[in-house]
Amino acid sequence: MTDDVNRRYVLRKRPNGRIDDSTFELIEEPVPEPGSGQALVQNLYVSVDPTNRAWIGEEPTYLPPVGIGECMRSVGLGRVIASDDENYPEGSLVTGLTGWQDYIVTGAGELPLTPVPGDTGLPIECMLGALGLTGVTAYFGLLEIGKPQEGETVVVSAAAGAVGSVVGQLAKLKGARAVGIAGGKEKCEWLVDELGFDAAIDRHDSDWREQVRAACPNGVDVDFENVGGEIMREVFGMLNLNARVALCGLISEYNSAERDQGPPLARVLVNRVTIQGFIILDYFGRFPEAIAQLGQWVSEGKVKDRHTIVEGLEKAPDAVNMLFDGDNVGKLIVKV
Ligand code: NDP
Repeated sequence: MTDDVNRRYVLRKRPNGRIDDSTFELIEEPVPEPGSGQALVQNLYVSVDPTNRAWIGEEPTYLPPVGIGECMRSVGLGRVIASDDENYPEGSLVTGLTGWQDYIVTGAGELPLTPVPGDTGLPIECMLGALGLTGVTAYFGLLEIGKPQEGETVVVSAAAGAVGSVVGQLAKLKGARAVGIAGGKEKCEWLVDELGFDAAIDRHDSDWREQVRAACPNGVDVDFENVGGEIMREVFGMLNLNARVALCGLISEYNSAERDQGPPLARVLVNRVTIQGFIILDYFGRFPEAIAQLGQWVSEGKVKDRHTIVEGLEKAPDAVNMLFDGDNVGKLIVKV
C-alpha cells in the first residue's frame, strides 16, 4: 500500500538570503502508523508559496517560525490511504498543512487537515490554485478590501502569479480595468491575450514606470500589492481620491534583511487612501463561500487557473527559489 519510507525535509539552517543546500536535509523515516481514530494520508502535491521563505526566516510572521530540525511547513493536498476515522474515508482528498513529506497521520500536525469538498469536476491541482489559498486570497483581498467598482482601475503586481492572475480576472468580472505588472514578455502577453487584462507591463523594461502611467490614464483606484519596493512606490504615486490598497505581500523583501523605507505618504493623506494589510487565515470561516464561487467561475471558464508543476518532493527547496526568480506562471506546485 505504501512505500516503506517517509521522506521528509527538515530545516537545518535559517537561510541568509536565498535557500541553498545547507538550508534543508531530506531524511528518511518509517511511514507513520495511524493510531485508533486516525487516518494515514499520502501527500500528492505541495503548494509552493512565498510564505514558505518567510516561515524559515529570523523575523516572526503570523505563524511561529519552523523550528530547526522540524519538518518544513507547507500547504499540501493528499489522499487518505488507510482510515479509522469516519471524517476521513479511505480514498478521500484532504488539504491543509501537510508539510514537505510523503505521509501524514491526521491529528499529528500543527493544524487539522480538512476534507476537500466533493468532486468539483476540475483537476485536483485547482484545490491548490484558484480554489486554494491563493485563489481565496485574491477573492477576499480584492472584493472585501479593494472593493473595485465598475470603470475603476485596479493595478496588481506579480500579476502572472497565483494570486495576481486571479485578482486581475476578478477585477474584470467586476467591470473594472485590470492592469498587471509582471516579469517578462510572455507573461504579459498571456495576461492580456488569455486572461483579458486591459494592459500588462513587463517590470524588466527600462521604461516600465512610463508604461504603467500610460496604462492608467485615469489614475489608480485599487492597488493589489504583492511585491512592495519600487513597484509599490510607483503605484502609490498614482493613487486616486479614496483609493484602496490591499496590502497582500512584499515579496521583494522576503529574501533580504533590508527593509524598504516605503513610498512617500503625502498622496495617501491628501487623497484619503485606505491601506489595509491582511492575512488570509482571518477569513478561514468564509473559505467555503469563496471556493464555491471560484469553482463556479473556473468551471464556466470565467477564471482560468494555470499551474506550473515541478516533479518530485526533492525539488521543493529549488521550487521556492523559482518564485524569487519569476520562473512560475500561475500557481507553483510540487508533485510529490
Ligand atoms: P506568485 O505565484 O505571484 O510568485 C511570486 C512572483 O513574484 C514571481 O513569479 C515574480 O513574478 C514576482 N517576484 C518575485 N520577486 C520579485 C521582486 N523582487 N520584484 C518584483 N516581483 C517579484 O506568488 P503568490 O501568488 O503565491 O504570492 C503573491 C504575493 O501574495 C506574495 O507576496 C505572497 O507573500 C502574498 N500572499 C499573501 C497572502 C496573505 O494572506 N496576505 C496569502 C498568499 C500570498 P514576476 O517575475 O512575473 O514579476
